[in-house]
Amino acid sequence: MPIPISLTWFGKKRSAAPPPKDRSRLRVGIPKVLNIWSTHQFWVGFLTALGIAPENIIFSSDTSEEQYREFGKGRGTVDCCYPVKCISGHYGELLFGLKKKIDILLSPMIYSLPSFLRGHVLDTLTCTRVMAGPENIKAGFLKERDVFAENGVIYASPFVSLGEPAVVPDQLYEALKDILQLDYEETERAVEAGYRALEAFNQKMRQHSREVLTWCARNDRPCVFVLARPYHMDPGIGHEIEASIQAHGFPILWVQYFPLDDDLMDWLFGQEIRAGRIRSPFDISDVWPSSYSSNTNEILWGAKVAARCPWITCVIRFSSYECGMDQPTYTPTQKIVEATGTLFFKFGDLDATKPAGSIKIRVETIVHYVEKYSPEIIRRKRAWLPDPCPLLPSPEPVTQTLEPETDVARAF
Ligand code: SF4
Repeated sequence: MPIPISLTWFGKKRSAAPPPKDRSRLRVGIPKVLNIWSTHQFWVGFLTALGIAPENIIFSSDTSEEQYREFGKGRGTVDCCYPVKCISGHYGELLFGLKKKIDILLSPMIYSLPSFLRGHVLDTLTCTRVMAGPENIKAGFLKERDVFAENGVIYASPFVSLGEPAVVPDQLYEALKDILQLDYEETERAVEAGYRALEAFNQKMRQHSREVLTWCARNDRPCVFVLARPYHMDPGIGHEIEASIQAHGFPILWVQYFPLDDDLMDWLFGQEIRAGRIRSPFDISDVWPSSYSSNTNEILWGAKVAARCPWITCVIRFSSYECGMDQPTYTPTQKIVEATGTLFFKFGDLDATKPAGSIKIRVETIVHYVEKYSPEIIRRKRAWLPDPCPLLPSPEPVTQTLEPETDVARAF
C-alpha cells in the first residue's frame, strides 16, 4: 500500500519575515532653506512613511543674523546670493546647536519642483544656485576637517527631480539606500506618501486662501498679494514685510497658495480662453515664452491673477539682491499688474542692507495707498468680469409674489 505523502512534506517552510526596520529613533535634521519652504511636507511624509518618528524630523530655525554669527561664521563659501549663503548658519545650527544630536543631516539638491503649472509650461526647474546650494555650503564644513563626521552626523544630499515623480523613487533609493537601509519597494511607497502629504498641505492652504478671498469679496475689502519665491516666507529673508501690512488690517495672499478651483479660474480667465487668447487658466505663454523656471513661472502667473482679481488691489514683489533669475521678470511683472490699475510695490534689494527703518516707512506708504485707492480699483476690476462671481452667494431666484385671488385666477 503506497504511503501517502503530503505534497507540502518537502516544501520549503516559509521563512519568517525579516524584522521591520526600526528607524523610529533616528533623528534627521533638515535645513529650512530655499525650496524646502515649498516642499517640506514631501520630506515629512517621505520620512514618516519610512518609520522615522515625526518628532525626530527637525527643521532648523528661521534665518537670523544670530544664527549665522553663532553657527555659520567662518564656514562661508563664495556665492553672491544671500539665500544660499545663509545656509551655513542652518547647517551649523543642526550640527552644533541642538541639545539632542541628529544622526543624519538631509539637505536635498532639488532639481525640479512639483508645480500647479506643470503641463502648461516648458519645465519646472529650480534656480541652479538653489539646486547646487547644498554642495556649495557643504564645502565650508569640510575645508579643514570633516565636521559632519566629527559630530557623528551622516551628510545626505540626494539629487532629486521632484517635478518628475516617476524618477524620484530611483533617485532617493540610490542616494539613501545605505544610509537608511532601504529596499526599493518601501522607497516607492514612501515617495508616494510624500507626494500625498504635500498635495494635502497645498490643498489646505489653498482652501484657506479661498476663505480669505471670499471674505474680501463679501465685505468689499481689499487684500494684498505677495509675488515672491517660497524662501521669502522666511522672516530672516523676507523681513516679515507682509506681516507688517497685515497688522494694518489687510489680509495677505501668497501666489504659491492662490486657490485654483475651476469656478474661480473660469471666472478670471474664461473670457480670454473662449476668445482664443490663451489655452487654459494656467497658460502664461502670452506673457512669458521661456517658461522653464518653476518659481519664475509661478510669479508671472501670479501677476496675471493679481491683475484680474478685483479684491487684490495691491501687489508686493520681493526679490533678493543680485538675483539673476528675477532680473528679467521685473518689468513684465510690473507691467502686467499695473495694466489694470492694481497697485505695485517692489522690494528688490532685500539683503543689501539691514532695511528695518526704510521698510517701516514703505509699509506706511503702501497702507496709505491701499486704503485710499482700493474701493475704486475693486469697482473697476469687478466691472470687467462676468456675473455671477463664484465668491459671492448666488442671487436668490426671483419668485413672483401673486395676489392670492386675482393673480391665481388670472393664471387659469
Ligand atoms: S536669489 Fe535668485 S539667483 Fe539667488 S538663489 Fe535665489 S533665485 Fe537663485
